[in-house]
Amino acid sequence: MFREDFLWGVSTAATQIEGGYQADGKAPSIWDSLSEGKIANDENCHHACNHYYKYKEDIQLLEKIGVNSYRFSINWSRVIVDENGTINEQGLQFYRNIIDELVKRNIQPILTLYHWDLPMWAHEKGGWKNPQIVEWFCHYTKVIAENFSDKVNYWVTFNEPQCFVVSGYISGWHAPFLKLSKQEIESVARNIMLAHGEAVQIIRKLSKRKVSIGFSSMNSCYLPVDNTENSIREAYQRNFEETDAPSVAYWSDPIVLGKRAQGQDFLSDDDLKVICQPLDFYAYNIYQPKYDNKYDKENPAYYTGMPKSGLGWYIVPECMYWSAKFYHERYKLPILISENGMANWDLVSEDGKVHDAQRIEYLKGYLQNLKKAADEIEIIGYQYWSFLDNFEWAMGYDARFGLVYVDYRNDARTLKDSAYYYSEIIKTNGGNL
Ligand code: BGC
Repeated sequence: MFREDFLWGVSTAATQIEGGYQADGKAPSIWDSLSEGKIANDENCHHACNHYYKYKEDIQLLEKIGVNSYRFSINWSRVIVDENGTINEQGLQFYRNIIDELVKRNIQPILTLYHWDLPMWAHEKGGWKNPQIVEWFCHYTKVIAENFSDKVNYWVTFNEPQCFVVSGYISGWHAPFLKLSKQEIESVARNIMLAHGEAVQIIRKLSKRKVSIGFSSMNSCYLPVDNTENSIREAYQRNFEETDAPSVAYWSDPIVLGKRAQGQDFLSDDDLKVICQPLDFYAYNIYQPKYDNKYDKENPAYYTGMPKSGLGWYIVPECMYWSAKFYHERYKLPILISENGMANWDLVSEDGKVHDAQRIEYLKGYLQNLKKAADEIEIIGYQYWSFLDNFEWAMGYDARFGLVYVDYRNDARTLKDSAYYYSEIIKTNGGNL
């Protein structure tokens, strides 16, 4: 059963939906400025879903779906426009309007400070490689907390450090499209973790109300091959054996447990004291289980012709149950699923509707498994990724994750069948699953 105050919501990120990339004094970001020729079909994020100008209409859609919470992110470069910390009041006003519209409709804002987009002024000074970035991030956090902590209860510092570090600084697939050395990555990771720890303290200190703070990890999960205790233990171990930058332990062990993961000699004891701050929930994003040929080839969850999403990601609903169990066991915090969803090649039918039957099945299966986990451990919420079809980073606009279809020719929105299905789930607090 889901608890009475379960946070049913949808999730977005600023750069993926806002557009308005030069509007009202916004400074350029790495995704605005460095993406040319790097995005599928030569696209960019400059217009995206035009949410900057359509946010009111979009929040009405949230109300129509019936969510009681909404996870979104702030674009740092909209708010702080240079290294001297100059504040762009119009940028702040945009987010104030969003928060006010949400609160007016009894929708809890879940505010993410950093969902992958860095101001160019910070990037040009070395970005995450430069230890000074911790101060810049503190200033930004302070401005956001001073302005919004009277209305925002739920705070997420970073979204998926694994993903933006690996894709942006190791493989060079995402902005700023770099391939750094191991040593440079260690200082990037250390700066991010320190910025997280400082930000948590700033939010708590400046908050005008009781706040809940976490960060969002990227956690897919190895599955047990069967339900025996041995297999379950083996899968649990397997999930924490990996300790490199893409892994869960690399980030969550220092941040939540105050412990170095294997190989993290670059973190000192003093660093760990800053990095590990008490958190109120453990948030993670999960789309699919992990698969490792050596470990998983006997696992019946994987078979020829098994279901996959539009991006070829495995559809195995049980990963929701097992991930919740394993990550709760290790990190001992209430769980928030801050993203889960599927990409599909959706289209508008002749009747003007979007019949996304696969997404309905996906939601049903994953949420049945979350419900089962909620009978055993504390789960505080679920945020479907994503509210709107949007800019899927280097993959452009083809893959559609939304509950709401976006026609990029004219910015028109259409609720997909899955949005109506999700409404029913919310209305019955998961009773219809
Ligand atoms: C990210 C989102 C992204 C989604 C689907 C998550 O890793 O937080 O920004 O769009 O996955 O790829």
